[in-house]
Amino acid sequence: MRSIVSVLVIANFLLAAFFSVGSWAQNATSQEKTAQEGAAIAFAARVVGDDKRARLIVDFDKAVTYDTYLLADPQRIIIDLSQTAFSLDGEAKRLPTGLVRDFRYGAIAPGQSRIVLELAKDVVIENHSLRNVTSENRHRLLLDLVTASAEKFAAAVRKTPAVKVRKPLSSGNKKPEDQKTFTVVLDPGHGGIDGGAAGAGKTAEKVITLGFAKYLKASLSNNHKLKVLMTREDDRFVSLSDRVAFAKNNNADLFISIHADSLRQKNIRGATVYTLSEEGSDTLSRSLAQKQNRADLVAGLSLPKTQPKVTDILIDLTRRETQAFSVGVARLMVRQMKDRVRLIQNPMRSADFYVLKAPEFPSVLLELGYLSNVEDEKLMKSQEWQTKAAKIISESIEAFFKPRLESKQ
Ligand SMILES: [Zn+2]
Repeated sequence: MRSIVSVLVIANFLLAAFFSVGSWAQNATSQEKTAQEGAAIAFAARVVGDDKRARLIVDFDKAVTYDTYLLADPQRIIIDLSQTAFSLDGEAKRLPTGLVRDFRYGAIAPGQSRIVLELAKDVVIENHSLRNVTSENRHRLLLDLVTASAEKFAAAVRKTPAVKVRKPLSSGNKKPEDQKTFTVVLDPGHGGIDGGAAGAGKTAEKVITLGFAKYLKASLSNNHKLKVLMTREDDRFVSLSDRVAFAKNNNADLFISIHADSLRQKNIRGATVYTLSEEGSDTLSRSLAQKQNRADLVAGLSLPKTQPKVTDILIDLTRRETQAFSVGVARLMVRQMKDRVRLIQNPMRSADFYVLKAPEFPSVLLELGYLSNVEDEKLMKSQEWQTKAAKIISESIEAFFKPRLESKQ
């Protein structure tokens, strides 16, 4: 109790210099409000503090339930709330120096809302509470953050229970809270009528991608907490949209598309891990994504419809959150491959790949190497290399799920 009182005193001091938090969200329309009648309304929010400590204050019209999570890579705090409509005015975003870099909020699933604080430093949550301030007719959520050593931060992250990465936006297709296994969908590129790229020695990309995916599945299946599915298990054509739909229908927790393309520049070799970005990190990545997005044409289908530009802030919120996880997976893959599997220069790249666009689960596209390079082709064809690389990639996937698997034990 004493600590709460003393922080309140500090908070009073800080009130003079408080920073109110702006919003990038629009107020809910009246129609949405009707649909959210059961929801609490968050009508005020601010962050006060400096680069050592910060306090988040959110006021609701009625009581909410909440859970807090501390996440690494990037450092974030997630506050999951029972259904909440956010009616925060759109003042310019002004944040405390140092600790909190960004503040986002929105619905995440039916009956579930979320606040995301992006942090500039390693912190721990010192206190949190929800109090009924009857005199002011409000329920006030307080969250106190304080900077911490990297070790203390890592320990606190490990203790954080699993946050559900998959956030169904519409379907009631929800996994139980006590999720004990995670679904990894492997997507061997091309197949059937679509052979993909061809190597100097005529090796077809579709053969390499399927072979590698099978080794990766075998390696991952040693972990009983991972359920591994493949968008194709044999030499058949699967359209780009069916690949993504397969992952959605199976409630994927992670989607990995596997390729081994070719380039005009025959000297370029090594593995690359791609995540989604609309602009693309470089020319090579942009042209690769363009080529891949046209894969359906090979089979006589029309191009998949590109999703309309995201204007819905709730989808955008989910997307950004998922994107952070995708980048986390990519980083782990590159880290594991370093010095063990040849990598391209700047092996973490991004481009506008159609198959990476699902907002529900993190997705990466692994380019094993380039068939246009003679040495790469020779390696990728060999069982020995495929087994070894599959083992290394499976280690990075396990590392990605590890914190959440451990917290479930
Ligand atoms: Zn390909």
